[in-house]
Amino acid sequence: MERKVFKSLISIEEARKIADSFKVSRKREVVDLKNALGRVVARDYEAEIDVPPFDRSTMDGYAVVAEDTFNAEEDSPVRLKLVGRIAAGDSSKLEVRKGEAAEIATGAQIPKGANAVVMEEYTSESDGWVSVYRAVAPGENVMYAGSDIMAGELVVREGTILSPREIGVLSALGIPEIEVYARPRVAVFSTGDELTEPGEKLEDGKIYDVNSYTIINSIKEDGGEVVFLGIASDDSDEIRRMIEAASDCDVLICSGGTSVGAGDLIFRVFDELGRVLAHGIAVKPGKPTIIASIDGKPAFGLPGNPTSALMIYNVFISSLIRKLSGLGGRRNPEIEAKLALKVFSSVGKAEFLPVNIVKGKEGFSAYPVTGHYSGAITSLAETDGFIYIPAERVIAEEGERFRVRLFSEEIKPADLMVIGSHCVGIDVIFRLLRKKNPELRLKIINAGSTGGILAVKRGEADVAGMHLLDESGEYNIPHLKRYGVRDALLVKGYLREQGIIVARGNPMEIESVEDIVERSATIVNRNRGSGTRTLFDMQLREIAERRGESFEDLTERIKGYEIEAKSHSSVAVAVLVGKADAGIGIRTVAERYGLDFIPLRAEEYDFLIPKERFEMEKVREFLSILKSEEFSKSLPPGLRTYERTGEILALNPNS
Ligand code: AMP
Ligand code: MG
Repeated sequence: MERKVFKSLISIEEARKIADSFKVSRKREVVDLKNALGRVVARDYEAEIDVPPFDRSTMDGYAVVAEDTFNAEEDSPVRLKLVGRIAAGDSSKLEVRKGEAAEIATGAQIPKGANAVVMEEYTSESDGWVSVYRAVAPGENVMYAGSDIMAGELVVREGTILSPREIGVLSALGIPEIEVYARPRVAVFSTGDELTEPGEKLEDGKIYDVNSYTIINSIKEDGGEVVFLGIASDDSDEIRRMIEAASDCDVLICSGGTSVGAGDLIFRVFDELGRVLAHGIAVKPGKPTIIASIDGKPAFGLPGNPTSALMIYNVFISSLIRKLSGLGGRRNPEIEAKLALKVFSSVGKAEFLPVNIVKGKEGFSAYPVTGHYSGAITSLAETDGFIYIPAERVIAEEGERFRVRLFSEEIKPADLMVIGSHCVGIDVIFRLLRKKNPELRLKIINAGSTGGILAVKRGEADVAGMHLLDESGEYNIPHLKRYGVRDALLVKGYLREQGIIVARGNPMEIESVEDIVERSATIVNRNRGSGTRTLFDMQLREIAERRGESFEDLTERIKGYEIEAKSHSSVAVAVLVGKADAGIGIRTVAERYGLDFIPLRAEEYDFLIPKERFEMEKVREFLSILKSEEFSKSLPPGLRTYERTGEILALNPNS
């Protein structure tokens, strides 16, 4: 019988309980010190010998009886009889008595009777006598046996992750091999007829396998040993064979084929070979997750969607692998941050929301990563971590505090933080900045024009890109006044040609907004609050006025007016695939998708910069590139600099 729905979604807490309930036993193995890096020590190690094993000299010079030198001065040296020479590694029976000295090398054993070393620099030697020009105290330039490590001392504890430093200590003790926890063997495979291995030719309808690579490397970070089995097609026999090939592994992780579609076989194969403990978790992303026990060992079926797969690995599997490998704990730290923008979360589903972290005047802010379709791997690559929004929450408010689980050890602050409406023009500036200085860490967060204004007010952005059209027809300044922005400057940027995007060849012969109305074209609109939407509505208002009808009546007749795309690209894609006949957007995007473009007006894309950051070197460089000839020449079609580019406007909210 085909399963058409998830039997029952379990909560994230239940799922975690199941994942944590696997009885796993850690194995041990012995490794050579040369191959011990990053391994986890499986028992305590005590020193069996002293380090150093004998008193030794820390300088090149002469071993002496310190008391002999007490009267030595620069202009009246003490003369001592040279009785021999001791090199590093010598086992010397030599004895130094009062009135005598022995030449000694760094690291050589201090001879019997001597208790100090005079540095070579303060001596001279001739005819079997040594002149000493400076006094030494007993013990000077001598490292005593056991002063580094004393026999019996606990030197490396169980659970220590071996770095070159601990490995150095163990080698000083003469320990050649060390007992560590064996890396858990984790079998990994991907499923899907559409998957191709990177490096191979991509046939029509196929995509490259992503999950194998994200999961394999996550397992390695968690101290596991990966047994990579490859890609299985959507075929139960093949999947069964892969699972059987992994019988000697401690954990099995596969991805794809976990939902309830016809080609989704993991549930059936897991069910046949073992016991399915969970199928479907009330979490976003990652609902189609399967947890099973096969031969008493944990088996996970991750969703195919790369973001979901990686998120589910991080949340449920990472800690299990770390427990097995002995690394323990969680891979990456958590920090606390305030949510930068309000977020609407799904009802009845817990959500892991990717965020970008920005440091502002009052600690960290977390910017939700949105506007990407779910599953975009790039959204993860550019993300600092994720927050957890519990199932019962529908809205998370701006300013609310959240724990952020980071994706790496630490957040590396950007040298230049640009937050706001995103434009390819900024990508061009970044490219030119990097050309000058490849080390620069530049970060751009797409938070919309208004998000950029808020970021500047909160002191989080160095630069905010914006293009907010006011009903008066003026760009940006009226909005900034309305938001009461002060202590910031507005730098005029460049012009972005806005117009109507239509299919190639303009089959409906649309030449104006009026034509959209006349020809009953289906449109795709932009989100309220975007500059493009304001422009479109302004034009519609004019048309309504001319025709003597209300704006509402007019827009009601426009098919698709209610459909709000969040970006220029989504508008272009809607036209490209035929979902809409027309949409308003920028020429740059129309050209990128090979669509026709009817210009309406050029919008003014400007940069808001906090006054106190204006003198920062990176901001100055940013602006000098904005004003450069090279920038102007590198802009894609539809974007152009003009006579106002680089003009600086002070904001006076009271005027
Ligand atoms: P599935 O869970 O098999 O229904 O797959 C969900 C989506 O993720 C589909 O668009 C798949 O093409 C995609 N997908 C599945 N496995 C992978 C993979 N290993 N790498 C990249 N994308 C994948
Ligand atoms: Mg699939």
